[in-house]
Amino acid sequence: MRAEIIAVGTELLLGQTVNTNATYLSQGLAELGIDVYFQTVVGDNAGRIRQAIELARTRADLIMFTGGLGPTMDDLTKDALAEYLGRSISEHEPSMAKIAAMFTSRGIHMVESNRRQANLIEGSDPLDNEAGLAVGNALTVDGTHYVLLPGPPREMKPMFDGPGKAWLRTVMNEERRLYSRLLKFAGIGESSLEQALIDLIETQTDPSIAPYAKEGEVAIRLSTKALSELEANGRLDAAERQITDRVGQYLYAREDITLEEAVIRLLRASRRTLASAESLTGGLLAQLITRIPGSSGEFTGGVVTYTNLMKHRLLSIPLSQLEGTGAPGAISESTAALMAERVRELAESDFGVSLTGVAGPSESEGKPVGLVYFGLAERGKQTKVFTATLNGNREMIRVRAAKSLLYRLWQALSGKDVN
Ligand code: ATP
Ligand code: MG
Repeated sequence: MRAEIIAVGTELLLGQTVNTNATYLSQGLAELGIDVYFQTVVGDNAGRIRQAIELARTRADLIMFTGGLGPTMDDLTKDALAEYLGRSISEHEPSMAKIAAMFTSRGIHMVESNRRQANLIEGSDPLDNEAGLAVGNALTVDGTHYVLLPGPPREMKPMFDGPGKAWLRTVMNEERRLYSRLLKFAGIGESSLEQALIDLIETQTDPSIAPYAKEGEVAIRLSTKALSELEANGRLDAAERQITDRVGQYLYAREDITLEEAVIRLLRASRRTLASAESLTGGLLAQLITRIPGSSGEFTGGVVTYTNLMKHRLLSIPLSQLEGTGAPGAISESTAALMAERVRELAESDFGVSLTGVAGPSESEGKPVGLVYFGLAERGKQTKVFTATLNGNREMIRVRAAKSLLYRLWQALSGKDVN
């Protein structure tokens, strides 16, 4: 918010009064985080007050007036602003009652012009004057905020510090927009992530840090209210740094994209291709990847080799590797490696990946439910095999297996490979 202070009073221009109000207001506004760009002084003259408003309107969101709220004919601020805005003026009843009571208590006749001190520009909020009679005005018109304070410092200061600042805070809060950032993680479970960040999640309120999970991926949402994107980013960046200091190796995106999208983007950026051979996931990996428009540039294709016969026929894996006493079996490190290598050769792609394991509900080849082997073959490199023991029902194991493989692939592509 950019502010301009307009001090109204011919005595200021004559040098009879020092403009201490402007100093006081500038300090107070700075404390609220409001930048004062201009301080203007104008005499008690309706035409020139109007000119000052017209100019301030072009370069400030907040115009703070002091002076000219009194009862006499040279107190023109409310009338000049009302006329400029095309708004009517009415009497604020409680302020009028207070003025009348003051005169009655002192036993003096109230001159009619004193009523002017109770004036409110149409649409204004009244600002209570605890040290005097003139009521302050605060209003917003077409996105510009106007605050009218009295001239005498002993009235101006308490009005600004009390109701004035309260009004400004409300207005600033309303102008704050919600900004949020999504941090997406893979390769770490929801509860482990939460555990690593629990003190931040519980104590941080701005930005707020909220975890959530879906389909084998976990995310953290950072949210803050701010007046600008710049202000928001400052706070979001700081919170993100605190988080990445602890779990940065699992962060795969700072926006709402899936892990497969992150993988495809990395393949695209390095102009490399991928092929898959799936057993327990039955094509789920290929399904996740081909859901992304344009992924044909990176994903050459995949095979579902569910039975040993198909692993043998499509991927040329010797039957002796797959069955018979002493054979490693279909669910084994060496079969995972062979599947990845053979499909990569078949597709002539840069990467070949494979999934073989036990989705359940019952064990297979004497291997427990949830045991999965992932093969990762890369052109010109030693093939890697990863193992995981996944929890959940059959469907969850299949989804988690596909996501785990994608995470390994993402690690290899992003250089965050810790192994
Ligand atoms: P009043 O009811 O006293 O007329 P007002 O709101 O109309 O109050 P002014 O008439 O503009 O205010 O000024 C009243 C007195 O307040 C001035 O004579 C001066 O002593 C003081 N004053 C006004 N403006 C300022 C200022 N910007 N800085 C310091 N003192 C000021
Ligand atoms: Mg006056």
